[in-house]
Amino acid sequence: MTAPKSDFIWMDGKLVPWDQANVHVLTHTLHYGTGVFEGIRCYKTNKGSAVFRHREHIERLFASAKILGYAIPYSVDEVMKAVRETIKANNLEECYIRPIAFLGTENRGLNPKGLSVHLSIAVWPWGKYLGDEAAQHGIRVCISSFTRHHPNITMSKAKATGIYINSVLAKQDAVRNGYDEAVLLDPFGNVAEGSGENLFVIRNGRIKTPPAVSILEGITRDSIMRLAEDAGIPLVEQFFPRDELYIADEVFLTGTAAEVTPVREVDNRPVGKGSVGPVTQKLHDLFFDALRGKNQKYAAWLDIL
Ligand SMILES: *Cc1c(COP(=O)(O)O)cnc(C)c1O
Repeated sequence: MTAPKSDFIWMDGKLVPWDQANVHVLTHTLHYGTGVFEGIRCYKTNKGSAVFRHREHIERLFASAKILGYAIPYSVDEVMKAVRETIKANNLEECYIRPIAFLGTENRGLNPKGLSVHLSIAVWPWGKYLGDEAAQHGIRVCISSFTRHHPNITMSKAKATGIYINSVLAKQDAVRNGYDEAVLLDPFGNVAEGSGENLFVIRNGRIKTPPAVSILEGITRDSIMRLAEDAGIPLVEQFFPRDELYIADEVFLTGTAAEVTPVREVDNRPVGKGSVGPVTQKLHDLFFDALRGKNQKYAAWLDIL
């Protein structure tokens, strides 16, 4: 299997050829999971390519570093400029964008004091994260035997590399057991989120999503909440248990990679009629109109290159 790539990666202020974007094996982040990253998408719109909610993503990258206790040695505007430069250098109209900040090699211990902070930005063409079939007909998920982090174990508002062991274990297990994706419960037994996606459930025309406690506060989640509000669809942030998923009319997952992915089955029980429901479809369409620049109301979400 060959993963998609592009020509240049931005590393510490310079564009370097893709194959030369390497780090030392004693990088603190490789050993202790202290990196922070983002997943962003750039879409083709009628005004040219545009990075979706660019500033919010870069601000979250800085917030993630702050939670871990270090500072990225650039401004938000400088990083946004570097992202635009990287997309242009690679001649991509649409792409996935992966900035990552990580700590250097200056000491071997746990305490990150005195370590240099590095930043790289890679971009590559990336289609549907869970496949075209999934985007159209929905996916099959299971409740994971792994629990999402307690906020006092690793804080889930940071999109940090180390935290992702939890997601990787859950995802691997789900796929090995024949499902497309895992849904994790929080330490109190309530539904939290997918391995890399936030979750929404619809019952009797009302939408529910778990509060941002054990979950990553997704920017797609925020976009969907705003779109639902503007469309007059009632939505609450509320804890709910797994059986609420079994009796839901509709369930869907959101994330930059997964976009809006319908869920057609939870633990071998069909969700609603087992096909994509009307509320999911409506929010999906509103979301794609917004990111393609077809709805002027959300023009501020687009950073046109
Ligand atoms: C990144 C991520 C999401 C989705 O966030 P977006 O900002 O919508 O891309 C959801 N859950 C986890 C665990 C994540 O890491």
